[in-house]
Amino acid sequence: TFISFEGPDGAGKTSALKAITAQITPLLGDRLTITREPGGNPISESIRAVILDRKNTAMDYRTEALLYAAARRQHLAETILPALAADQLVLCDRYVDSSVAYQGAGRQIGEQAVEEMNRFATDGLLPELTIYFDVPAEVGLQRIQAHRQPDKVDRLDVEQTAFHDRVRAAYLRLQAAHPDRIKLIDATQSPDQVVQESLALIKQTARR
Ligand code: C5P
Ligand code: MG
Repeated sequence: TFISFEGPDGAGKTSALKAITAQITPLLGDRLTITREPGGNPISESIRAVILDRKNTAMDYRTEALLYAAARRQHLAETILPALAADQLVLCDRYVDSSVAYQGAGRQIGEQAVEEMNRFATDGLLPELTIYFDVPAEVGLQRIQAHRQPDKVDRLDVEQTAFHDRVRAAYLRLQAAHPDRIKLIDATQSPDQVVQESLALIKQTARR
């Protein structure tokens, strides 16, 4: 079973995933793969480093989208597909929807173009379930400012509210277009509430 986690910055995705991992690992042990893109293997890590390198200020937005898709492909080939073949539960921090939202809508290179490019990169493989942590741009940005991780590298315009509004709007459009796959969780709720709702969705889907 393949499950992805999505959300704009400051939605609490990282902390929720930590708590989910802690609760689910004792139940599943080695039948579980928890992973995040675009990293996780040497090739994807190298690509990620190019994307995040602050010196690469000249990077074209389509180049960025292609690099995310390339890193995604390698992560799929090296990590996700083997885990699924071994019948594991795969929890993946970000997947195609991130690119549609961030590169397609945030960077404004077009949601459909990014979706098509990623269809090639993934050979059309989508998660059975995508848990989308929804939070308004201002709330998310306030949370990031409140406890900023010093090692966290974001490119310049990524912090602007307009950018994050576009990212969230794209996520909401994706959710409305794929209501069976993408389940929305109100991430302005308490962290515990968010984790409990996530676990319920994961259990429902993994049982099928
Ligand atoms: O998931 P996480 O919060 O670590 O994401 C880090 C950052 O990577 C996001 O805030 C976003 O700026 C960027 N990102 C992106 N496009 C993607 C995935 C992530 O711009 N497809
Ligand atoms: Mg995060």
